[in-house]
Formats: sequence, C-alpha cells, structure tokens
Amino acid sequence: MAKYVYGIDLGTTYSCIARINDNGSPEVIKNKEGLNTTPSVVFFDGKEVVVGRVAKDNTILEPENTISFVKTLMGKSDFAINYDGRDITPAEISSYILRKVANDAADITGQEVKDVVITVPAYFGAAERDATEKAGKLADLNVLSIISEPVAAAIYYGVTNQTEEKNILIYDLGGGTFDVTVMKVKPGTIEVICAEGNHDLGGKNWDGNIQAYLEEQFREQSGFDGELDNSDLQDLALKAEKAKMELSERESTKIPMAFQGSKARVELTREKFDELTTTEFLDLTIALTDKAIETAKNKGINVDQILLVGGSTRMPQVSRTLKSKYGLEPAILDPDEAVAKGAAIYATDVYVNGKGDITVNSGEEGNDENKPVGELPPLVGPSNGGGSTKPITTIFSTTKTYGVKLLTQVGRELQPRIFNLILKNTAMPDGSITGVQEAGVVEDNQPSILLEIYESDSDANEMEVIDKLKLGEVELIAPPGIKRSDRVFMSLVLDTSGKLHVHGEAEVNGVRKEVDVDLEAKGFMSEEKFEEIKDEMKKSGLVMQR
Ligand code: AMP
Repeated sequence: MAKYVYGIDLGTTYSCIARINDNGSPEVIKNKEGLNTTPSVVFFDGKEVVVGRVAKDNTILEPENTISFVKTLMGKSDFAINYDGRDITPAEISSYILRKVANDAADITGQEVKDVVITVPAYFGAAERDATEKAGKLADLNVLSIISEPVAAAIYYGVTNQTEEKNILIYDLGGGTFDVTVMKVKPGTIEVICAEGNHDLGGKNWDGNIQAYLEEQFREQSGFDGELDNSDLQDLALKAEKAKMELSERESTKIPMAFQGSKARVELTREKFDELTTTEFLDLTIALTDKAIETAKNKGINVDQILLVGGSTRMPQVSRTLKSKYGLEPAILDPDEAVAKGAAIYATDVYVNGKGDITVNSGEEGNDENKPVGELPPLVGPSNGGGSTKPITTIFSTTKTYGVKLLTQVGRELQPRIFNLILKNTAMPDGSITGVQEAGVVEDNQPSILLEIYESDSDANEMEVIDKLKLGEVELIAPPGIKRSDRVFMSLVLDTSGKLHVHGEAEVNGVRKEVDVDLEAKGFMSEEKFEEIKDEMKKSGLVMQR
C-alpha cells in the first residue's frame, strides 16, 4: 500500500489532485506544466493521448481529435468521440484525465499514486457515479470511494472543526455544472440535507455569451462580414474565457482580435458582462438556490452560512447577488482547489486515520519514505488549509428518486404508474437506504419477473410513466416451482456513494430465500463491457504523453 492517499476533483473543465503533506496540511500537487489545475481536455495525437493545456490549445487545430466537457456525458452515453475507427466511451476519456493528473503527481512527488477518492457533483445519479468509478479503474487507480464535491468542499472549509451546529449552503459553480447543497454540520459530522443542480450550467455558458458579444463587436468595428472558421471560433472562445477571468479582477478589459486579415480591439466592462449573463444564467442558479433553501426550510433547517466553490464563483456577480438576496456574506477559499483538498482530507481521515479500508504499510525502520500513513501529523485548522484530527462522520442523503413501474387500478382500468421507493433528499444515517417492492408471478412456474426502474427528481410517492426517466430493467429469477400465491420482493438499495444495488427474495411455501437478480440499466457499465473497454484500450496501442 502506498504511503499517501489522494483526492481527485475530476472537473468538467479542470481537474485537480491533492494529498495531505507531511506537515498535515492538504496541498495541491502541480501538474508538469507547473499549474494547480489541469484542463479536462483530451487530444489524440497519433498514438499519443495528450491531456491538459496542450490538448486545450490543440482544439483550435484539430477539433475532431479533441474532446472537452466529457463529464457531462458520464453515465448518459456510451459514446464520447470516434478516433482511429473506434468509438470511445466517456469513461475511457475520463480515465485519461485521471491518468494524467495521477502520472504528473507521481512524477512531481516521486511517489506512486494509487489510492484515490474521486469527487462527483452531489447531483450525480447512480449511473454517472458508476461511470466515474469505472474511469478510475480504467486508469489503474484503486478507487477508495466516490464522494460528493460539496461534502469535500465543506470538509476543506473546516466546517467539521466548528464547535457549534451550523447549517451551511454550498454554492458550487464550475466550468460546466452548477450544484447547490444544504448541509447540517455538527462537530465531526456532516449531514447532507438536500441538493439541487443543473448539469449544463457553468462558466462555459458565461464564456459563450461573451464570445457572441465579441464576435458581434468585431464585425461591427472591423466591417468583417465573412464566416469565422473553426480555428477563429476556438481562438475567440479562449479570448472570451480570458476576458471573463480578467473581469473578476478589474472593471474593464480590452480584447484584441485579428481574424482573416480584419482587426479590432473590443472593450468589455464588468457592467456589460453582468448585463450579458445575469438574467440568462446567474438567475438560474439563484432559482435553484431558492429551491434548495425552501426544501431545507421544510425540514426545519435555516441556512446560516454560504460557502462558495468552483472557479466561476470568482465572478464578483456571484457573491454580490447572494449577499443582497440572502443577507449572508459568502465565504470563498481556494474555490478551484477546495474540492480536491477536501477529498484528500476525507481520504486520509477515513482510510488512514479512521477505521478505514487501507492496510497501513509500516515500511522499513528509519526510512522516512515508508513512514506508516497512520502516523501523519494531526491536520491543522482551515486557515492553514482545512482539516480535522477526528474522523469525519458524513451522513449522506439521496440525490435522486428511484421507483418501479407497476400496473395499478385507475378507475376501471389497469394503468402503468411509477411507485417511488426511495425519495430524493432523504437522509441515509445508516449508510444506505432501502426501498422494497412486493411483486409476484402471474402464472405458476413463471421463470422470472421483469421490473422497470425509474430515476427522477420527483418528490412524489407515485407519478406517471415518463419513458426517458427509465434507468433500466431488473429481472428477478424466480425459484423453480413458484406459484401465484407465493410472494416475491425486490429491494432497491442506494449506498452513500450513490450507487444503486438490487436484491430479490422469494417466499415459497413460507420459506424466504434470496433469488438471483439481473440489472440491466441505462448507462451502467457491465463487467463484460468494462473488460471489453480495457481490452480495446490495450489493443489500441494508445499511450499517455509523458
Ligand atoms: P472548476 O470547474 O471549478 O474548475 O471551474 C472552472 C470554471 O471557472 C471555468 O469556467 C473557468 O473559466 C472559471 N474561472 C476560473 N477562474 C476564474 C476567474 N478568475 N473568474 C471567473 N471565472 C473563472
């Protein structure tokens, strides 16, 4: 077992890796380019896989061999890009991003990077979490657990060190996703109360509106009326993001542009920037924040602190609006790194200092390199980087609703409806939550029972069938000799990492026995598929650029 465990924030636009250093503080490990965060962009260059800034720069020249924002496809699609005649899955692409941050961290520190905790948005459903875990495995990492980004961020902010109970709202606006989470924090304990989010909302939307404005101004000032090609558009996108970042520091910026022989220098003020983005995007985040606050209120929880996470919370419009709307001064601390650092604290607390799963390697006497992980010095307070000496108990709550389709009497007719067995935003104090559905066979000796599982954001116990919410099908293998009068039970079990498991039991002649279950779910990667991808990756001859 390696000496250190790592936290990886696998972000939509940027990724980051951290660990607890020998002084007990969380630290980000820079990549080989000397930066704390690595663009989550993958570029295929012949047989080489290039990840990070070089890949991001190459999107201009070879957009067809480059892929960005792959996180938004995780667990939703089997296809991310076709390269070299092969359809590549989002999990494989993500594995290259993980490999890059892990390889760089190993090269920079001279130590193996193997045991990791990877973070995902609180809002991620079961299939997305599964795909993230598989990506870690494809990257040859030992994934200790998958935890929610806001939980990691809260840990970094040191909320678990507070002496009194507090209700925290984490507003996380990244490059391509937005999440808002309310949690109740007591010394040493974090309880997630509720979460809302939008997976298609982030800094890239703000960039898009600046890009459109810059193009319009460029045309107006230079008189250019042709078509901008891919490379021009990519250049414009990079300029838009840069301008946005500059406007976080100053009131106005000038953007020089030269395309196809035409030139212009466009001024963008912060005021104009806010005008271009507030109603369309910022207000969406506020509406979701309102919803989370309302849900929490209905559970008797009033928010008393707001913490900001995600690179996009550096935009002054975020703090200003939250403060004026909710009357609370939001706290901001290393927004790009808080998640990775929090994940590193969690990984160390749970797997090294706590009862954890890691076997501590006591190493050789007197060799500092192999000092047992359990002897890391105590973690220090948040001003030095967050952390707690006590193991952190985290009470997670469900972030999605899971139900099963059943026929039910509506008036005189039998109609299919969805009966939700596990509801969104329910606390999981025991580490998991189980919903049970009784089913039966329609004929004696029926070999199996097929049930459809649905994943949604519904708060209701029962709802109409919406096809696109179908997560998958479960086949319960009935024991031989089963009769119509026998009882069959299907349990959906959601664990704290958001993974869904299915169990089946049948009561035949009064004896209850476990039965085999086959879950075929959309986005879930079967073991066969996983092995197939691993094989394909090997055969493809692709190597990471070092
Ligand atoms: P994350 O996914 O948390 O790494 O956030 C990345 C997003 O934060 C990207 O859209 C960046 O453009 C944005 N971002 C990073 N730094 C700044 C900044 N100084 N001002 C505004 N947005 C920023």
